[in-house]
Amino acid sequence: MSRAAGPGVLLVALLAGCPGPDVTTVDAGRRTDAGPGHAADAGAGRDGGGPDAGGPDAAGPDAGCDAVTIGDAPGGVVYRDGVFQGATPWPLPDDRSGTWWLGTDQGAWHILPDGPACQFTAADGQPLPTKTWRALKITLRDVTFAGCDLALDAADEAAIDQLFTDSLATIETDAFQLLQWDVTEVAVDAPLTLVAPSGYPVVDLDDVAALDAVVPGDYDVIVLLFRGVSDDCTIDAPYFGLAYGPEAGTHGAGIIQVQMPQADIPALVDALTLYDPGVLVHEWLHIALENHFGAAGAPLPAPDEGGSPVHNATAYGYEAPWMDWYRDLIRGTVPDDDGTVGIGPAWLPQCTVREQAAGLCAL
Ligand SMILES: [Zn+2]
Repeated sequence: MSRAAGPGVLLVALLAGCPGPDVTTVDAGRRTDAGPGHAADAGAGRDGGGPDAGGPDAAGPDAGCDAVTIGDAPGGVVYRDGVFQGATPWPLPDDRSGTWWLGTDQGAWHILPDGPACQFTAADGQPLPTKTWRALKITLRDVTFAGCDLALDAADEAAIDQLFTDSLATIETDAFQLLQWDVTEVAVDAPLTLVAPSGYPVVDLDDVAALDAVVPGDYDVIVLLFRGVSDDCTIDAPYFGLAYGPEAGTHGAGIIQVQMPQADIPALVDALTLYDPGVLVHEWLHIALENHFGAAGAPLPAPDEGGSPVHNATAYGYEAPWMDWYRDLIRGTVPDDDGTVGIGPAWLPQCTVREQAAGLCAL
């Protein structure tokens, strides 16, 4: 498992236009078609339409409804007792025992048991509780390594800001807005010298606390962003993004480092936005899915050969670009032999990284 990999260092691959998971394993035994969490499969439950789909006796107590559905919002998904059932529109079964949730890009709701049985929508439900995750964004305007001095200008910073903001918004949307970010931003002008404890250049984790006097409990995630390549030189980093922790050495937070691996950073961000802007979402999943929720029992995908569930997309039938994979991991809708895996709405409102570090709660 990736969380057992040394100090929690996880590499994401891919400098050559491949910002997705570094996946090499393909298990032919797993399904290779798109899963039910995909919009293209809307209407199909895991078993092909839900327990009462389509049959002449399926309408139950509201026989006569033209369309008995739960949720009509795009991207909506239905859970029963925390377990993914299918994508909307999804037939409402006769048996409405248990706890039913509807999640959409705009929010997630508890479907009230005494609500209408036809055309169930978000307005008929009760909003699920949300959780705030606190992020510290540190822009390193000047880093040096092995004689290479790399600085950011205003256009670079604007592009990086866009990538960062869009990535956090993607996580919120994929999490049904059950997770909301509270961001603190810091920009560091003084040159910071990178270190190479494992043979490749990174920001020394001991420097992170000094940059903003961070103590455990302050933040869930600390994101360090810096230039890795200029027209004149490169730090030769074999990664795009790295994820660490949470653990004692990361000040109780998850730490993400992203080195921008192209001299023209605005052009890079434009290309990523068009193709696969997932590097920060990917690194956050290492922290949140694997090392936080997964370590506490949230259902994880099987790991790839390198030990990372987040890197095992192709074994589950997903293809680049990887944003669908990340969404389904966050929603807990990745089809697996035993049901579905991922975080999902049962875990998203639980104790966060910083809350756990501060001893306020535990998963
Ligand atoms: Zn990775």
